[in-house]
Amino acid sequence: MSAVLIVAEHKEGMPSKATLRTITFGRDASEMLKHKLHLLVIGHNVEKVAEQLKIYGADCIFLVNDPALETYKAETWAYVTSKVAQQCNAAMICTDAGSTGKDFMPRVSARIGAGMASGVIGFDGECFKREMWAGSVVARIRLHTEIQVATVQSTLFEPATPAGNSSEIEPLHLKIPPARTRFIEFRKTESKRPDLPEANVVISGGRGLRNAENFRMLERLADLFKGAVGATRAAVDAQWVPNDLQVGQTGKFVAPEFYMACGISGAMQHVAGIKNSKIIVAINKDENAPIFRVADFGMVADLFEVVPALIAAIENT
Ligand code: FAD
Repeated sequence: MSAVLIVAEHKEGMPSKATLRTITFGRDASEMLKHKLHLLVIGHNVEKVAEQLKIYGADCIFLVNDPALETYKAETWAYVTSKVAQQCNAAMICTDAGSTGKDFMPRVSARIGAGMASGVIGFDGECFKREMWAGSVVARIRLHTEIQVATVQSTLFEPATPAGNSSEIEPLHLKIPPARTRFIEFRKTESKRPDLPEANVVISGGRGLRNAENFRMLERLADLFKGAVGATRAAVDAQWVPNDLQVGQTGKFVAPEFYMACGISGAMQHVAGIKNSKIIVAINKDENAPIFRVADFGMVADLFEVVPALIAAIENT
């Protein structure tokens, strides 16, 4: 029987929220296609990750646990994924459309000669759905290859809930060929704040913030909500914040309960990354700013008055 295979992403021994969301997509696809649902965990000392995924209703969890997989390399992940996909008769291979998925999944597709759809937002049993032109158009994409590869815009899906059974874990021993790329260093950004795609609250700033120093007040506000700080490309290009904080079409997609846009005009490329937020609040001094078209609540005001007042009000409660 054919299968839908989902490659799990994980960090510090935990499956990512994006993986749980991708499982929701995969469950629907496997039901529509009447295929099995398999998960794949790749890494070294990642048994705990596979254990934690047992409750989500997969038919099988393949575990490829090898010292050669200690550090992520697109080359080796693509090799392992394509081998496991062939072994388990996968007809569809999916992972989250984050930076890791964008990096290794095209290589999977090339290795096995499978068609690929990137950043898909749905599957109707025949075609993938995918937004184009920053969300202005939704395209239906039909792949004609026997095996289909997709990265999933997982922020659109709720995290999978426990399915009431316990999946089998099947360890696989593959001979990992030496990689032509070499791992040099992993520079971790030390932050107590949640990752943007995982955060329940995101406080974002744009060019209206004027400089890097003024982002400190957004950080203060984000910390009061235990949230993350985001930024527009304009703020990133001005080097006020690091580029991993960029939200939007060419940055990260977020789907928090609460998104606050401060001094952000609301360009379509930014809005593409925030429109799955449950509540959007915008502060902008220009009443015609396009951000007000997508905001649930808007304040035509100077952010340098509103944000400090908000911080003071929360701190005094
Ligand atoms: P601006 O458009 O300059 O807006 C600043 C806003 O701040 C204005 O509306 C102004 O009224 C307001 N303001 C100023 N001072 C104050 C104040 N004191 N109080 C309140 N409001 C104030 N952009 C992204 O964000 N993410 C992306 O992923 C992205 N990808 C792109 C991909 C492509 C291919 C292209 C072409 C562009 C992309 N962009 C992206 C850029 C995007 O088009 C916009 O240029 C950018 O989002 C604008 O950023 P901004 O809103 O910070 O700046």
